[in-house]
Amino acid sequence: MNQAQALYQLQKLDQDISQRKSRLAEIEVLLGEDTRVQAAGQTVAQAEKALAPWRTQASDLDLEIKSVTAKAEAVEQRLYSGAVSNPKELQDMQEEIASLKRRRARLEDDLLEAMIAVEDGQQALAEAHATLEQATAQWERDQHDLLAEQTGHQSQLLALREQRAALKSEITPASLETYKRLFRGKQGQVVAPLQDTNCQFCGVSQTSKTVQEARQARELVYCENCGRILVIL
Ligand SMILES: [Zn+2]
Repeated sequence: MNQAQALYQLQKLDQDISQRKSRLAEIEVLLGEDTRVQAAGQTVAQAEKALAPWRTQASDLDLEIKSVTAKAEAVEQRLYSGAVSNPKELQDMQEEIASLKRRRARLEDDLLEAMIAVEDGQQALAEAHATLEQATAQWERDQHDLLAEQTGHQSQLLALREQRAALKSEITPASLETYKRLFRGKQGQVVAPLQDTNCQFCGVSQTSKTVQEARQARELVYCENCGRILVIL
């Protein structure tokens, strides 16, 4: 392995290390993040909030209907008991019964409407609960997968760093210095394979002198266009 080839291997290791490190950073953010679960929880809370007043209204109307019914029955009993004989009073009682029955009919209409709203609200709540359960289960699976992926990258990183340390013993300080110097400016793409006579990175054809020197690999040879170290694999 000549210096260019060793640097090319080093670059591959560095790219692998860097990709795993940025994925680990992403995983760090994703672990514990439960946006979907939170949103589903909010939907449940909203559905509960929307349902509660209809439930109260239905139960209030039910009580009121019972009370109006009882009142009408009491007046009816008195009316047919024979205890009252005054025609004016009897007429008033009949009118009161009719009025109570009209009121009950209106209340029953309102109750029906409230009961339909309760039913709709209960269905929405059940759906929201199902979505929350689904989101929670998915979240648990995702967290499990992320943790497994994290462990995988972490152990791979250890291995890659060992390989890197071993590889460095084959690289001269001067070559390593050049690699480091170019690293930032070339965004980590320091070494480019030579394919036929072209730099594989920029695609520009090299002179036969450069190709010859790259073949000999006595020292580092650079792409005439992009300045990357050329390597023949
Ligand atoms: Zn180039």
